[in-house]
Amino acid sequence: TGVSTGPQVKPWIAAIHAYVPGKSKSADGKPLVKLSANENPLGTSAAAMAARASIADAAAYPDPDSTALREALGNLHGIDPARIVCGTGSDELLNLAAQAFAGPGDEVAYVRYGFSVYDIAARRCGAVPVVAPDRDFGTDVDALLACITDRTRVVFLANPNNPTGTYLPRAELARLHAGIPADVLLVVDRAYAEYVDPADDDGALALAAAAGNVLVTHTFSKIYGLAGERIGWGTGAPGIVDALNRIRGPFNVTSTGQAAAIAAVKDQAFVEASRAHNRAERERFVAAIEALGNHGLRAVPSEANFVLVLFEGALTAAAAMEGIARAGYAVRHLPGQGLPQALRITIGTAAQMDDIARALRSMAEAAK
Ligand code: PMP
Repeated sequence: TGVSTGPQVKPWIAAIHAYVPGKSKSADGKPLVKLSANENPLGTSAAAMAARASIADAAAYPDPDSTALREALGNLHGIDPARIVCGTGSDELLNLAAQAFAGPGDEVAYVRYGFSVYDIAARRCGAVPVVAPDRDFGTDVDALLACITDRTRVVFLANPNNPTGTYLPRAELARLHAGIPADVLLVVDRAYAEYVDPADDDGALALAAAAGNVLVTHTFSKIYGLAGERIGWGTGAPGIVDALNRIRGPFNVTSTGQAAAIAAVKDQAFVEASRAHNRAERERFVAAIEALGNHGLRAVPSEANFVLVLFEGALTAAAAMEGIARAGYAVRHLPGQGLPQALRITIGTAAQMDDIARALRSMAEAAK
């Protein structure tokens, strides 16, 4: 074979493993109920759906600055809207943060089992991902701080984390921030933060308001039930927000997305109902898993809308996933993320969780 004359993909781009989305079909192509993408089983706020449907004009560009949405978010969270930037999902903001603050040869640090987009976000700008060891599937603050070198430019932390559901409490997050040099950006990715009991808030928004090196990101894809509209938002010091505004897409949130998100922000009753549902069903599901402890099943403690179930007995994660698919459900197996004997299961409706628990119990009892 001769030397290729086509355009040469940058080697750091060629090294990227593309994001693997949660499946909605079985191995043999049957459609399954999706408990594999951490979507809201209660759907979307009715007010948000109505606001989305009220947008009749698709010919006009959306507000490039998502002005009214930033005002609504500012009101809800007590933040100056000038310090808020919206994105095409929070994924866009995570990628922009890496791009704005890290480049070729720089390092981007996060914890093992951290959200898979951090690896892509680091590599796409030529930076080197540095992965700290976990502690019980969660963040070990000392281990993460020990990874920071002169070359570290960005630290990513998902709180709660996906796919483990683990949560770093307020005091530990403060300790992490205190240990990070002022010229390193700490990104606290709070995609699942609304599922945490407000009494246990991690204090990230206060850090973003007070510190010069913190970006906090949120999404409308999870508790707000608007994953199909692709809307995220972030807040931090003016210099951070300014950097992201320079490089984001000029019309990066659609008209329907902005309208739906504004109405969703104003419907906190839907958010509270979703949080309450999730908490009750997660507790019930974790109890069902704990009852199978003698068969080697274990649930990693979760503050999110999913549970990582570990398979340490005769029943393997791969076999369990097949059995759950036979019962009609897709869940997430993450061998590529170093979790060959685990399944991440999104909290669905009560009936769905009963189906999954029943399938797991019969498989665990039958496995030898
Ligand atoms: N952060 C975490 C931890 C996530 O799990 C996800 C969704 N999988 C995202 C960010 C991105 O979500 P979105 O782009 O839909 O806002």
